[in-house]
Amino acid sequence: MSPLEPLFSESGPIARSVKGYRYRAGQLRLAQAIQECIDSGQTLVAEAGTGVGKTFAYLVPLLQSQGKSIVSTATRHLQDQLYERDLPRIKAALGVSIQTAVLKGRANYLCLYRMEQHKEQGRFSRREDIEAFGSIVRFAAQTTTGDIAECAEVPENAPIWSQATSTRENCLGQQCPRLTDCHLMAARTRAAQADLVVINHHLLCADMALRDEGFGELLPTVNHVVIDEAHALPEVATHFFSQSISTQALSGLARDALGVGLQHARDGASWPDLCGSLERCAAELRLVSPATSGREEALMNAGINRRIGWDQLDESVRTQWLEKLNAATDALIALHQVLTRNAERHLELAQLLAVAQDFIGRIGEFCEEDPAAAVVRWMEWGRYGVTMHITPYEIAPRFQQEMAKHQRTWIMVSATLAIAGRFDHFVQRLGLEQAKTLIAESPFDFQQQGLLLVPQQLPDPKAPDLIERLLQQSEIRALLDSLEGGAFILCTSHRAVGHARGWFEQWASGHPDRLILAQGEAPRQSLIERFRAHGAAILIGSHSFWEGVDVPGAALSMVLIDKLPFAPPDDPVMQARSRWLTRQGFDSFSVIQIPEAAILLKQGVGRLIRTETDRGLVVVGDRRLAETGYGRRILRSLPNFARTRDCKFAKDWLAADVPVSPSPGFDA
Ligand code: SF4
Repeated sequence: MSPLEPLFSESGPIARSVKGYRYRAGQLRLAQAIQECIDSGQTLVAEAGTGVGKTFAYLVPLLQSQGKSIVSTATRHLQDQLYERDLPRIKAALGVSIQTAVLKGRANYLCLYRMEQHKEQGRFSRREDIEAFGSIVRFAAQTTTGDIAECAEVPENAPIWSQATSTRENCLGQQCPRLTDCHLMAARTRAAQADLVVINHHLLCADMALRDEGFGELLPTVNHVVIDEAHALPEVATHFFSQSISTQALSGLARDALGVGLQHARDGASWPDLCGSLERCAAELRLVSPATSGREEALMNAGINRRIGWDQLDESVRTQWLEKLNAATDALIALHQVLTRNAERHLELAQLLAVAQDFIGRIGEFCEEDPAAAVVRWMEWGRYGVTMHITPYEIAPRFQQEMAKHQRTWIMVSATLAIAGRFDHFVQRLGLEQAKTLIAESPFDFQQQGLLLVPQQLPDPKAPDLIERLLQQSEIRALLDSLEGGAFILCTSHRAVGHARGWFEQWASGHPDRLILAQGEAPRQSLIERFRAHGAAILIGSHSFWEGVDVPGAALSMVLIDKLPFAPPDDPVMQARSRWLTRQGFDSFSVIQIPEAAILLKQGVGRLIRTETDRGLVVVGDRRLAETGYGRRILRSLPNFARTRDCKFAKDWLAADVPVSPSPGFDA
């Protein structure tokens, strides 16, 4: 018997201490595999089906092990959930008293020094900025952690936070007058002293890419790294291994240089002219944009950025952009010269000099086209500015280089890593071909608990009004009319969310007991809580609702997905990677597009069955899932639900607890 078996048994310490705990063979198997890798120093890539209980499966061996551990989660929300809920429960169950800490990226902590500097300088002109900054100052007086997520009055993504948080470049570090009460330094110290630290993928990758943002001092001392929700890691790593510079960063430098210059070297230059010139260049760059349709404008206003490859832009836009970029470089060089002359007068001036130097280098790299480099140059237009990116086609070499720096155990775990039982896609992206792999099957009886419906009659999946045409079909409408619990309508585009919302608002006039919720009308977490509490609501959302949402019971009885979630065909990074793979003789559709769509669909479908007693229907409005070879490959990646193409059968199945004999036409 392995030492883990008694811990996970029906009469063990976890069962005695954690309400609702049940023994699951898959959980024990996963924990044992993790234990073996901890003992041998091997890397493990594991898929844990829904309900396996992967969090306890990795926490138990980690808490029993020697050495220091890091657990990385996909989002800050999951990070807080793990640290505040799961970790204390399992520590109490096992009776261990090891020190734990949570650490986020630098931008998540209030910087007292910068906040005070901006308070003194008081250069806010807009009323909303003055009000938001006042809220931040009040928050500073009462927070003990400095975690900006706790400041309820100012959203975490509000641009004003750049005035009250630090960056690697502008932090004064050991020379800071507020060092002793610095929230970031305190969080880092707690993390350095802890045996187990909960971080997120952004922090992990930022540390790998920049050796800053949180624990450049910490990672080398870590023996075991568990990456939960590992399916999200390649995307985050790609972002951090990219080189970027934004108009907001240029404006931020201009603002900082003005304040710092006037404070520490007033006679050193005409700071308002110098900084005003850079600020103007940033503003002019923001105005150079490709023709934007009303829909694209609306999306940007809703916070959805527009991504375009540099080589896809019109010649005239590129020419204008390069002209403005040259002007910005001239303004940066002028600022650089002045900062060089004054750098010795104060540390902050020396830091700004380094930032100006870095920006000149980044702009230079973006402008220098190197056809041999395996990178794509692309632009991103958003509500607050424009960002230029240089993104590598592949991240495996860089990721492997970072992994190889220190000998330690790496555990990658997620509910969605395998495609039709194979891990090729994930391990190739990160260069983990040598890793051990494991699939820990879900304990749920998907054949009895879930039914997958791909209706026989369906609109063309490429139709721009697909979601409306789908909902207007009488058989789909009949399903919705007869549904007793709640439903998720998961769309592949924001446009479809808008169309579906319009349709459901009309539908709800005949169903006054229904609550219709749509992405964008309230923060994500608040929408999910209202959905859960109502019990028979309809929630319409796009990608951010496909994963990380847990609604057990009848409150979620149906998931309707408009179509297979392939990446948008015009996405510049996907396009460039596809072309690059094709040049090497690969079928890019098969190598990247199908696996990525399969992982996302698996996430979306995975919302439905969350406990042993859940029961529900998944409707996919895309006939390609049932009628094409690649659709059947995707299908083999999904939970093993009973399947049907008959809407009437699905309606009867939903209404009565009858056993399923799948109908014909679904022969995967
Ligand atoms: S040490 Fe850095 S982050 Fe901390 S208060 Fe000072 S400038 Fe801000």
